[in-house]
Amino acid sequence: LTYVSLKGVGHKYDPHPNSPMVVQDIDLDIHRHEFVAVVGPSGCGKSTLLRMVAGLLVPSHGSVSVFNLPVTEPRDDVGIVFQKANLLPWLTVRKNVLFPLKHKYGRYSSADEVRANELLEMAGLMQFADKMPDELSGGMQQRVGIVRALLLNPDILLMDEPFSALDALTREQIGFDLLDIWREHPKTVLFITHSISEAVLLSDRILVMSKRPGTVMDLIEVDLARP
Ligand code: ADP
Ligand code: ADP
Repeated sequence: LTYVSLKGVGHKYDPHPNSPMVVQDIDLDIHRHEFVAVVGPSGCGKSTLLRMVAGLLVPSHGSVSVFNLPVTEPRDDVGIVFQKANLLPWLTVRKNVLFPLKHKYGRYSSADEVRANELLEMAGLMQFADKMPDELSGGMQQRVGIVRALLLNPDILLMDEPFSALDALTREQIGFDLLDIWREHPKTVLFITHSISEAVLLSDRILVMSKRPGTVMDLIEVDLARP
């Protein structure tokens, strides 16, 4: 069973026959608990790729499937973390993290609260759990966004440059914290970044997307032996 499978995926935003393909000919399988990073320069189509996997964008060419089913809309078992955490400013950190559960099921259980605390602890956020988002640094807010996504326990986690707004040192620290979390709770992840070092730190495989003038994009696969 492949978690995510892309076959001959391509996309053009503009249906006009002469308009350029933004993403082209992508074949990719992501298996259980694999952490796959996608790197490449700005504008090479990384977000477009992720949005197709997320079910937020229907590819104009090829097929995307999750658990062998074609993706036609966002799924509950696929979580997404974007560049900005977009926390609700009037809720504490803990309540922000629990908010999607409350929104979805109308309530959350004490077991959910226990798990929220565990994840906050692992992300180094426990002493901020009762603070308001604007009392946290940007890096911490991003961590809260990741904890919020993890609390829904998605089978697959998609992350679109979650740390791009942060300084290099903070990024590195968050990277190490995340590694600890993945070690304890492995996840199937598609991670977009423009930082090669972040990709090397976190991932099992790296896809390098490049943008040749005009149209086509290359896909190079690098296998990493993790220590
Ligand atoms: P990346 O995430 O690698 O920076 P994107 O996937 O955001 O790249 O964009 C790839 C290309 O598609 C860019 O040339 C961008 O301008 C174009 N593009 C992105 N979103 C849209 C859209 N909604 N409509 C038209 N063109 C878009
Ligand atoms: P873990 O909790 O270790 O991350 P998962 O929850 O991702 O494991 O998946 C456990 C098993 O259940 C997987 O091996 C997979 O085969 C199956 N599975 C999980 N979600 C789905 C789904 N939506 N459709 C089909 N099979 C699934």
